[in-house]
Amino acid sequence: MKEYLKKLPPEIKEFISLAGKISKETRMPAYLVGGFVRDLLLGKKNFDLDIAVEGSGILFSEKLAKRLGSGIRIHERFGTATLILKGRLKVDIATARKERYPCCAALPVVSQGSLMEDLMRRDFTINAMAFGIGQGQEQKLIDPFGGRRDLAQGKIRILHDLSFKDDPTRILRAIRFQQRFGFRIEHKTLLLLKEAANSDLLHKVNVHRIRDELILMLKEDDPLKQIKALYSLAGLSFISPKLKPGKATYDLFKAIDKEIAWFTKKFPGRRHLDTWVIYLAALLEPLGLAEVKRICRSLALRNGEEKRIVSFRQSGPRVIVSLMKKGISPSRIYSLLEPLSYETIILLAAVSKNRYCREYIADFLEIYNGMRLYVSGHDLHGLGILPGPVYQKIFAKVLAAKLNAKVSTYEDELALIRRLIKCPGANVLKKQ
Ligand code: ATP
Repeated sequence: MKEYLKKLPPEIKEFISLAGKISKETRMPAYLVGGFVRDLLLGKKNFDLDIAVEGSGILFSEKLAKRLGSGIRIHERFGTATLILKGRLKVDIATARKERYPCCAALPVVSQGSLMEDLMRRDFTINAMAFGIGQGQEQKLIDPFGGRRDLAQGKIRILHDLSFKDDPTRILRAIRFQQRFGFRIEHKTLLLLKEAANSDLLHKVNVHRIRDELILMLKEDDPLKQIKALYSLAGLSFISPKLKPGKATYDLFKAIDKEIAWFTKKFPGRRHLDTWVIYLAALLEPLGLAEVKRICRSLALRNGEEKRIVSFRQSGPRVIVSLMKKGISPSRIYSLLEPLSYETIILLAAVSKNRYCREYIADFLEIYNGMRLYVSGHDLHGLGILPGPVYQKIFAKVLAAKLNAKVSTYEDELALIRRLIKCPGANVLKKQ
């Protein structure tokens, strides 16, 4: 096991060594747990560290944060803390705990526990391994459920027969890891997964947890594979009984993959894309607007997320039809696309098979969207125009002229504004 640790990036090695010292000083045994240990054995890079502490995870985190000079976010109620670190490393620390499920799909009753109890509450054998890093511990793998063997054999296996009934979000998690690693879901686990999916247990789970797991699936490298597997193994009726994706949806996912690859290569400095929003909107594309809105609400999507999905459904077809004609002016293209989010625009590009439409979208993203005026509010004030909403109207007119190559220099822009305010009826713009 030590040979695996040796290969880690220096920042992680240093961090683990410091956490080990804190463990010794506080006499609280500490362990690396979960996905980090799994990925360590797989030789996959992972900068998300989960540490379980026998004792007080919060006290441990406070000491660690003090030594590191880092920030800390404490969740007293759950006995967990997140260190706020610069760089790539993300660290969550928790008091080792045990869980009891009072009934199917309900939230568990949680209490402090040993490492063994903490591992027993986990989802799959490959995620239920630990590695001791401090107080009185040998640096070796703790693997009570045969996670290392399952990793080597490429198997997703639950820890006990009631696992999916206790927490049906594990249905989504099993499929996500299966698809991510190209593993098989072990025979009995698969039977129990299907049985749980068929008994509608996913309908009973807290919507936030379902939403978060669905988003994680759509954030994986290949969302198409994820959704296909989810549909065939568990169905999608927990999102909507009307949702039955077929070739058209799958082709759209492939087209989106290409558009996202093009966008990220072409505009590396642009804002980060919420790609999962694009895939979710594509998944819901065959449904009517009312159903799309209902789903967004039932999944408790945040306002901005719902807006982007709904705006594609609402204005997508109209914008595409408008952009299918030859010779549209740049200012018209700008006025159609500027109100939309990047996610919606990428989706429009993927949906549209029309040559002009795709060219206009590329022009908008490459040229028009970054175009700025030389004139400012200061210039308008200097011309005696009273500040107010009229400023936006003037800027919009000058920008339209600039997009259409009617003005180019600072002097051109000022001259246009002078002409605009001289127009009959424009006197109201001037200072009294
Ligand atoms: P990823 O590589 O996608 O981040 P991860 O394994 O780190 O995967 P997290 O969702 O960050 O997954 O969860 C961390 C650990 O917590 C998991 O490895 C698993 O041991 C445990 N866990 C998470 N969700 C569940 C769950 N629903 N039921 C049981 N254990 C869970």
